Amino acid sequence: MFDNVIPEKRPPAHMAMDSGMKVLVLFGTRPEVIKLAPVIRELRKKQFETVVVSSSQHKQLLKPFLKALDVEVDFDLKVMTKDQSPTGVCARILSRFDSVLEAESPDLVLVQGDTTTTLAGAMAAFNRRIPIGHIEAGLRSGNIMSPFPEEMNRRLVSQMATFHFAATEKNRRSLLEENVPSEKIFVTGNPIVDSLRTMLKTLSPSPDIAELIKSTEGKKRLLLTTHRRESFGSTMTENLKVIRDFIERRRNTCLFFPVHPNPNVKDVAEEILGGKERIYLLEPLDYADFLALMKSSWLIVSDSGGVQEEAPTLGKPLLVIRENTERPEAIRAGVSKLIGPGPGPLKNLLDENYSVDTWIKSVREVENPFGDGRSAARIVRIIEEKLATKEMQTRNIQRSLF
Ligand code: UDP
Repeated sequence: MFDNVIPEKRPPAHMAMDSGMKVLVLFGTRPEVIKLAPVIRELRKKQFETVVVSSSQHKQLLKPFLKALDVEVDFDLKVMTKDQSPTGVCARILSRFDSVLEAESPDLVLVQGDTTTTLAGAMAAFNRRIPIGHIEAGLRSGNIMSPFPEEMNRRLVSQMATFHFAATEKNRRSLLEENVPSEKIFVTGNPIVDSLRTMLKTLSPSPDIAELIKSTEGKKRLLLTTHRRESFGSTMTENLKVIRDFIERRRNTCLFFPVHPNPNVKDVAEEILGGKERIYLLEPLDYADFLALMKSSWLIVSDSGGVQEEAPTLGKPLLVIRENTERPEAIRAGVSKLIGPGPGPLKNLLDENYSVDTWIKSVREVENPFGDGRSAARIVRIIEEKLATKEMQTRNIQRSLF
């Protein structure tokens, strides 16, 4: 029913058309909006007509972030369904986003990262021969099954993009190894650092989270997030049991766990960790509350990508509960350690670092290898230069970029 209908557009709240160029920005999940909010702000500052589209791939998780990061959505594709699959999400975005592209006819589509929204958005733009800018390009784990399906999503987007905004030099090299032309790659840093820094300037947690921090004063606070598809099942069960046993054995510890709403996480979390002393199962937190908990933590345990990028700025030690990571820069910076396969290493690392906290104490705020807080300005300056060239202003010649 919806498929051939252009989704309703909100009144144009932020139209500023002096540049004469229209950039469409697409996101659908929490990390995407965190990383794209500073870019949207900068595009508007530079007078681009900016159309913001949300796929709402993760509707509930996304909402508080739109508010906190002051992002207004022009088109909402409303693709989320109960028990959705990547294929279903992809199919719905392809058809619904195509209607928006037809109506808006942007000069550039910006996508971020490696979600199904990113892949589907890039495909829809590619099919209309609209140039694509890919932010956070060049992340690679080297294993197409992990993270799943993200590693394949980002590889495919690299095949379609016109401009590749890589966060680090390592990401640039990964793209070069896949024969992406060097003149299309720009090392800009990751705008998550821009968002993080902006948030930290005025960080004010909600009364509930402030109270939680106060009431656990003096305890070694462990902060956990886990939600990745490849962690579902026995990996997650084993990890949660290891953490539960650790907290139960050490009375001066406590656990904060904002539980992802996916039943593969929620049900297991309640079964293994529910009703235990000093274990706090929380609803997913808005950005300010989560950052406040990160700052208050003794140690973070997470399979998240964004958390690996935030830990260096916050100077917080992080155990990455994954078999591999596409972000070895944080390990090299001395901030994170990779657990690798099986529950054994997690137990050992928790016990070791509880007994001898040399590493934990050594972790300090370091220069963030993923960005310096000015990534959005760099990305938009490059877009400005590229779109301003005479060739780019002619649609026919834009087509030749592919
Ligand atoms: N985050 C948050 N509240 C939470 C959990 C995470 O604000 O309850 C933030 C976190 O700071 C990071 C981002 O969400 O910036 C990570 O999102 P997620 O782990 O869903 O995705 P990934 O980064 O793994 O793609």
